[in-house]
Amino acid sequence: MRQRQKIGELLVQAGLIDEEQLDEALAAQKTSGKPLCQTLIDLHYVREGQVLPILAKQYGCSFAEVGRLTIQPDAYKTVPRDLVRKLHVLPIRAKDGVLTVAMANPLDLETLDLLKARTHMRVEPVVAMEESIDQAIKGIDPGSGVAVGAPAGVAPTSIADQHIVEAIERGVNAIHFEPREDGLLVRFSSGEILDDVAKHPAELQDTIINRVKILSGVDTTDSRLPLAGSARAVLGSYEVDLLTETCPVIYGERALVRIRRGQQGIMSMDDLGFTEDGLKSLKGILSRPTGLILVTGPKGSGKTTTLCAILENVGKEKKNSFSIEDPVEFELNHVNQMELNHRAGLDFSLALDASLKQDPEILGFGMIPPYNVLETAFVAATNNCLIALPVPAGDPAGALGHIMDLGIRSFTLGSSLACILSQRLVKKLCDQCKQPFTPDPELLMEFRLRPDLKNVAFFKAIGCESCKDTGFVGHEGVVAVLVASPELKGAVMEGQKDASLREIIANTATGSLDYEVVRKLASGVTTVEEARRVFHSAGVS
Ligand SMILES: [Zn+2]
Repeated sequence: MRQRQKIGELLVQAGLIDEEQLDEALAAQKTSGKPLCQTLIDLHYVREGQVLPILAKQYGCSFAEVGRLTIQPDAYKTVPRDLVRKLHVLPIRAKDGVLTVAMANPLDLETLDLLKARTHMRVEPVVAMEESIDQAIKGIDPGSGVAVGAPAGVAPTSIADQHIVEAIERGVNAIHFEPREDGLLVRFSSGEILDDVAKHPAELQDTIINRVKILSGVDTTDSRLPLAGSARAVLGSYEVDLLTETCPVIYGERALVRIRRGQQGIMSMDDLGFTEDGLKSLKGILSRPTGLILVTGPKGSGKTTTLCAILENVGKEKKNSFSIEDPVEFELNHVNQMELNHRAGLDFSLALDASLKQDPEILGFGMIPPYNVLETAFVAATNNCLIALPVPAGDPAGALGHIMDLGIRSFTLGSSLACILSQRLVKKLCDQCKQPFTPDPELLMEFRLRPDLKNVAFFKAIGCESCKDTGFVGHEGVVAVLVASPELKGAVMEGQKDASLREIIANTATGSLDYEVVRKLASGVTTVEEARRVFHSAGVS
C-alpha cells in the first residue's frame, strides 16, 4: 500500500493527475481491488503510456506498452502457455540467451527464478500493466504465437490508429493493410522494402479497414470498388495527412495508407543526407537564374521529399517558388502550390502557362507532365526560370534516356540541363546499439576501398529496446549531385544515350551514388547489406 501511494504521489508530482483525482482513485481502488495505476487508467485520468515510464523509473528497469508491441513468436513459445497465464507474464523477445519478459512486478524474484529454471535463459523483466498482459495473452494465437486480436486494452477500432502512430514514430511512409486467407496482415513500407508488423484475425478485418477509411476520408458505404481519399488526422500528439487507396481483393478490401507529415515533416535541405560537397554544388545550381534540375531514383526513394525541400528552400530565400502537383502531397509554407483540377479544366498545360506568368524563380513538378507541357517547361528552363522534375529511373543516364524516349528533342534537353540528383534510401542504424567491426580486405575491395585501409570501421545492426529490436531507426537519404558538365550537355544535345552517356558521366562526374553510399557505410550510418543494395543498383560508378 505504501508503495502504491508513493506511485500516486509521483504521478501528482509529474503533473499527470491532481490530488483530487488521486483521492478518487484510492477510494475506487478499495472496491475494485485493482492496482492504483490501473484504476487511474480505467478512470481515464492517465494513459498507460504515461504511467509506465514512471513505474519503470521506480523499479529501475525498462517498460513495455504491451498493446503497442510486436511480440516475437519464438520468444512467446519459450514459456509454456499455462505458466504464462498463471504467472501473468508475457515473454516478448528472445535474443542471445536473454528472454525479455513483461510483468507487473519486475522485482518478483520468485517468478523470475521460475522462468529462468524453465527456459534456461537469462530473464530480463520489463514493467507492464497486468491487465494489458492478461489481455495480450488471451489474444495470442496458440498456433503461431503471433500477437493477434485487439491489443491489450485497445478497442478493435483503435488498432488502425495504433499502427499509424507506430508508423509515424518509426519514420515509415506507407502502411499496407492486406486481407489474407488467415487474417489481416499489416505491413510497413519504407522505400523499397515491406516489413510484416502484425496479423489480426479475419473477424477484426472489416472494423480495422473501416477505421482506416474513416480516418482518411474514404467512402465507407462501398467496399466493392477501388476508392481513394485523403484527410488530416490527429492521432495522439501527431497531426498527419493520410492518403488512402483501397482495392477489393479476394479476401476483402485492401488498403494502402500513405502518411504525409505536413509542414513539420518537410526536412530542410541540410537534413536530406547530402554530403557537404553535394549540398554546395546544389546550392550553386539554385543560385542560377535558369536550368533544368532532374531528381531521379526508383519508386519510394524520396524524390518528392527532396523536391519539396528544394522548392521550400528557394521560397524561404524570399524568392518566388512554384509547384504544380496532382495531388499536393505536402503542404509547404513558402511555395505557391497549384493542384490540378481536371474537372474544372485546370490541367498541366493551363497550370504551366499560369505559373510562368507569375514570374517564378523556380517551378517544380510533382510528376512528369505530358509531352507537350514538358517541352514548354524545358524551353522555360532555358529562358525563364529553374525547372525541377522527378524522373523514375535508376541513374542519371537512365533519367536522360527516359526523357528522350518521351520525344523531347535532345537539343532542348541538353541545353537546359543543369544538374541531376540521384537518390536512394537506406535504413539508418540505431545509435544506441550498433556495433563496430573491422572490415576484412575482401569487403573493402567489394566497395572499391583500398584493401590495406587502416582505421576504418563498419557497423552492424544489433537491436535494443529503443529500436524495437530491429537495429534500425528510420531512414536516411543517399543523394548524389551530378552537375552537368559542358561535355555531358554536348553529348545529350547530340542525342547520345545509355552506355556512351554513362561513360561520359563516369569520367567527368564528381559525386556518384556508389561513392556516397560508401561514405554512409564508412561513417556508421548504415550496414554492409544496405550499402550493397544501393551499390549494386546504382549503375554508375
Ligand atoms: Zn537499438
